[in-house]
Order: sequence, then C-alpha cells, then structure tokens
Amino acid sequence: METGDPALELADLVMHFGPVRAVDGVSLRIERGTVLALVGESGSGKSTVGRCVVRLLAPTAGTVRLGGTDVTHLGRRRLRPHRRDVSIVFQDPASSLDPRLQVGDIVGEPLRLLRLGLSRAERDRRVGDALEQVGLRRQVAQRYPHEMSGGQRQRVSIARALVSSPRLLVADEPTSALDVSVQASVLNLLADLQRDLGFACLFITHDLSAVEYVADEVAVMYLGTLVEHGTREAVLDAPMHPYTQALLSAAPLPDPRAQRARRRVLLDGEIPSPTAPPPGCRFHTRCPVAQDRCRTEVPPLRATARGRVACHLVADDGTGPDVRRVAREETALRYGSRR
Ligand code: SF4
Repeated sequence: METGDPALELADLVMHFGPVRAVDGVSLRIERGTVLALVGESGSGKSTVGRCVVRLLAPTAGTVRLGGTDVTHLGRRRLRPHRRDVSIVFQDPASSLDPRLQVGDIVGEPLRLLRLGLSRAERDRRVGDALEQVGLRRQVAQRYPHEMSGGQRQRVSIARALVSSPRLLVADEPTSALDVSVQASVLNLLADLQRDLGFACLFITHDLSAVEYVADEVAVMYLGTLVEHGTREAVLDAPMHPYTQALLSAAPLPDPRAQRARRRVLLDGEIPSPTAPPPGCRFHTRCPVAQDRCRTEVPPLRATARGRVACHLVADDGTGPDVRRVAREETALRYGSRR
C-alpha cells in the first residue's frame, strides 16, 4: 500500500441485478485507520456496496480501489494478494460460520486460503492469538459454533476476519442479529480492536445510535445513492438532508427524558422499489418539504461547508430545510399546540 493512498476509494460504483438498481453511482473514500459508517434503511443498497468492496460481487460499473490498487476487474488469481487487505464480518454469525468445522479451523481458514506458506503450528498460534484478541480463550478452537452463544459466535467471525491482519474491515450490520444485551459488548470490542490495530473500517448499519461510538465519518444512502456524507459531528449534530434528519429523529436516545421530548419525523410509506426509482430526487415521494423541481430534477451530490449533500434546498453554507420543525408545525396544526 502506497503512503497517502486511502484504504478504500469507490468511484461511481454501480451494481445492478437485472432491472434492480441496487447501487447507482456511489463515490466514497475511507482514509487509512479511520471508520466510515454507511447508513440507510434496508433496501438502500448499503450491504451491496460492502459486497462489491470485498469483491463478493463484480460491480456493473465504476471502480473499487484498495490501497491505491484498482481491484474492480481482477480475476481470482490476481485478486489473491489483495484479499489479505480486506475482510468482512456478516450480520448473522449463525449462517456465516460453517457448522461442521471447529472454531480453530474456521478462524484459520483465511490463512489457508491465502496460501501464506505458514506451518500448521504457526497457523494455530495465529488462530489462538486472534481468539484472545476478541476476548475468547484459546481452548474454544476445539469447539463447534453450535456450542457457543450468539455473541461468542460473532466474536469468532471477527477473529476470522482479523486473523490475516487486513487493512480494511467491512462490518455489515455486525450486531443487528444479536440479543440487545450483547450488542454493546460486540460494538465496544470492534471499536477497541479498530483503535488498537489501526485498520480502516466500512461500518454498515441501519442503527444511527451505533454510529456515535465507532465512526469518524458518516455517509447516508437512500435507494442506491448517497444523499449525505460528512464528519460524524456534522452529520449527527446538524444533518442537512431531510432523509438524514428523519432517520436521526427515529434513532433511540439514551436519556429517556430527551427521548420523550423529541418529535419524531414519520416518513410516509416504504422505501420505493429499486427497480423503478422515482424521477428527480429519489426521496421526493417521502420528503416532507419536497417542491415541484424535486419531482423532475436530480439533485447532484455536492460539497457544502458542512460536507456533501444531495438536496436542492440546502445552501452552500450547509443551511437548509428543517424537517423536524416542519413535523412539529404539522402536528400543532393537526392536533393543536400543547402550549
Ligand atoms: S431535493 Fe427536494 S425532495 Fe429531495 S430531499 Fe431535497 S427537498 Fe426533499
């Protein structure tokens, strides 16, 4: 990896499955050693982006660069040296771990597939180290996945992803299949490992409350495109795009009083089908402040003083519509003000 190259660079990434336009022109970069959270509802295309990054999918168009190298069209053999640089943790450890293999073989599998020429003893040592890194005892190498809890199984998935010391980890909803009681501990583990080992991370989630603890930057996807991208503080404290504002208004707050006081923005309807995205701004069918031009003109993703945003109503200084205020006013009109 050349000095100065980002860990990941996506340029105009497109992934279509027949008529389904799952990803439609996503450009992003993740600097080395930093975490970018890719956020959106299910159906936004965020997991498809993750699968293109690790080349489980071959993109329809656009480029994927890992550490400065274009890996978009590399065949299996030429891709092998780069496989070491990027790993993925999936949402559900129950289906991503082979139930017939012992934990030691599962965690050691990437080392075998990468053909690093390691002896069995060296492989076992690295597997043991990886298990300890994720807070498990070395002895669990002899167990099978079904003998472990959901949280332990996800730790095994993380050990498998990190055993080859990747420079980039794609974490695809790594806590959402887990019991609420263990979600925080797995999230903390990922944050600690990222800080200690210094890998870059594409953290894919629908849960904006998780983003606060792990991300340096946040990018928001809607129907296959990016609608907002900025630093964590900018996006979480003063979101520009109406969709980001609505998502944030629905994320649970730790303080119950703040939670009760907050006005939630309810979006009308479901996310439209990616086979026939709405014309103009793709969000216009659900946007509380949509105007006539939004139905015909596509808002480009452009730079403002507070990050990148795709909305006609946001000015260059980042100021724009406040859909939470609009929601408050609408509620007051419908039901009368509480004051
Ligand atoms: S461009 Fe129009 S429809 Fe799209 S988010 Fe902005 S105001 Fe809403």
